[in-house]
Amino acid sequence: MSYDTDNIFAKILRGEIPCHKVYEDDDAIVFMDVMPQAPGHALVVPKAASRNIFDADPTTLAALAPLVQKIARAAVAAFEADGVTILQFNEPAGGQTVFHLHIHVIPRHDDSPLRSHSGKMEDPEVLAANADKLRQAIHA
Ligand code: AMP
Repeated sequence: MSYDTDNIFAKILRGEIPCHKVYEDDDAIVFMDVMPQAPGHALVVPKAASRNIFDADPTTLAALAPLVQKIARAAVAAFEADGVTILQFNEPAGGQTVFHLHIHVIPRHDDSPLRSHSGKMEDPEVLAANADKLRQAIHA
């Protein structure tokens, strides 16, 4: 399995298609998932080109954890969440649908089930509003 430079997250990273961006640094970008499994679902995407956990450089993986923690903490604050689900899928058999390494950060509320993976496209206005909330919490 090799890295396809035409995958949709590579295009987002190159600025060829838009996203609801909430955070960016030298190593990673964070944007809203367009088919959220719960309101506020964000994706932490390293800039380094790796398909998934199998080919990622260990330094890429190591740099991801503190950022995932930062986004998870911000998600709790932004969405008054009771918890956060962190997901990461590898290869089609593992549930992966976009073949650029990324980690899902999903705010959760008590008694609110997770919606299906890659399910329903969210209204762009809702995504924009949730991006604003998360962005503010990240920079608070
Ligand atoms: P995975 O199955 O882990 O590869 O998840 C890919 C995720 O990317 C899914 O949750 C999709 O809803 C999401 N997704 C697909 N296309 C886009 C896009 N253009 N912008 C933001 N999220 C996307």
